[in-house]
Amino acid sequence: MQTPFIPPVQHALPSYLDPENLGPWGDYLQQIDRVTPYLGPLSRWVETLKRPKRILVVDVPIELDNGTMAHFEGYRVQHNTSRGPGKGGVRFHPEVTLSEVMALSAWMSVKNAAVNLPFGGAKGGIRVDPKTLSRGELERLTRRYTSEIGVIIGPTKDIPAPDVNTNAQVMAWMMDTYSMNQGATHTAVVTGKPIALGGSLGRKEATGRGVFTVGVLAAQHMGLNLSAARLAVQGFGNVGGVAALLFAQAGALLVAVQDHAATLYQPAGMDAQALWQHVQTHGSVVGFEGAETLPRDGFWDTPCDVMIPAALEQQITADNAHRLQARLIIEGANGPTTPAADDILHARNILVVPDVIANAGGVTVSYFEWVQDFSSFFWSEEDVNARLVRIMTEAFEGIWQMAQEHQVSLRTAAFISACSRILQARELRGLYP
Ligand code: NAD
Repeated sequence: MQTPFIPPVQHALPSYLDPENLGPWGDYLQQIDRVTPYLGPLSRWVETLKRPKRILVVDVPIELDNGTMAHFEGYRVQHNTSRGPGKGGVRFHPEVTLSEVMALSAWMSVKNAAVNLPFGGAKGGIRVDPKTLSRGELERLTRRYTSEIGVIIGPTKDIPAPDVNTNAQVMAWMMDTYSMNQGATHTAVVTGKPIALGGSLGRKEATGRGVFTVGVLAAQHMGLNLSAARLAVQGFGNVGGVAALLFAQAGALLVAVQDHAATLYQPAGMDAQALWQHVQTHGSVVGFEGAETLPRDGFWDTPCDVMIPAALEQQITADNAHRLQARLIIEGANGPTTPAADDILHARNILVVPDVIANAGGVTVSYFEWVQDFSSFFWSEEDVNARLVRIMTEAFEGIWQMAQEHQVSLRTAAFISACSRILQARELRGLYP
């Protein structure tokens, strides 16, 4: 007989949060509340998911090239480590907040459990616009931040990776700083490193490749022909750009693209490869020839079959969800859809492949990188990609089945599976001391 559901005791919000302004953390809390009734007896532990295990806020002072001092606010949040060391990226962005980093760390816990990687969830960030810094300033910022969070990261404790506005070079500086402070080379302290420093083949493209992999599976389930599908992509960086290239190679028409600087529309389809080259050279899609420039808000009305939000969180909201034309949304970004928008999309029968599955390709190959660093034995790109596709396919199909079984959205299904795994580990470990 199944144990009856006992509603968990409601706890007060931690005092460091403003209940009036929870930001993305508020979205995450709503997602947990939605999944709690499906957790059975494990719901006894659900409060564990509603407060991060550890939050570190650091001051990051650096000397600018002009000789003045600048101070930046840095964060590292370890949301949950029940299933393994913390794992999650580091974001450099002028609008980074603690609430955002907390939510991103929690979504990492859920993501790692949803694809069954032996990691907990963590995330970091610095409130800075890196585009205003010289290369030297960026290096000093990265190294100082790494030293400040060095007390809680480590190859078996918490392993950072790239996120928005951080890249392989930033990871190289992080690895070197941590290693110099420890007096030994620890390549496995970060992932997303350059290949020459223990990085993995296929890591750079992994998130976009994962988005494409689940997109193909979702399209098959829906009976959507990808080779004739129109695609709209928000964010043309590591995730959105690579995903767009792969979809275009499969025959999809890239009809709309938005980045931080412009929105482009071309109903006949843009040359994804040429646009990619343009962005590598010019830093944004601005000035790409052969497409119309739309006002920013026009992106949400563009006629398309598949939409990939691959920029920032809270982009698809109750204000624009009713305007979207796509039949399929694949969340390349973390947290791009608010819970209210989720409900609207669900009611409109638009399928959403949630971030915690859709963009898990990056952390999956980060896991491969970490394994390769520990064993000092490196795999071919074919092996990396084949293992990536296998893990993503197993995770997607498992969640598809669970969604059918419980008649819930793919997001709720992914959260049921992931939260059950995390809380089972929590229960087996027990509380110590
Ligand atoms: P990136 O820095 O390579 O690219 C970000 C893109 O978003 C750029 O094209 C930028 O112009 C665009 N952008 C920024 N602000 C925007 C705005 N206000 N409106 C529209 N576009 C905007 O970053 P990325 O690595 O591609 O990450 C994108 C998203 O994917 C983030 O949410 C990140 O957390 C998530 N993600 C990244 C990875 C990874 O491996 N890189 C893995 C999982 C999830």
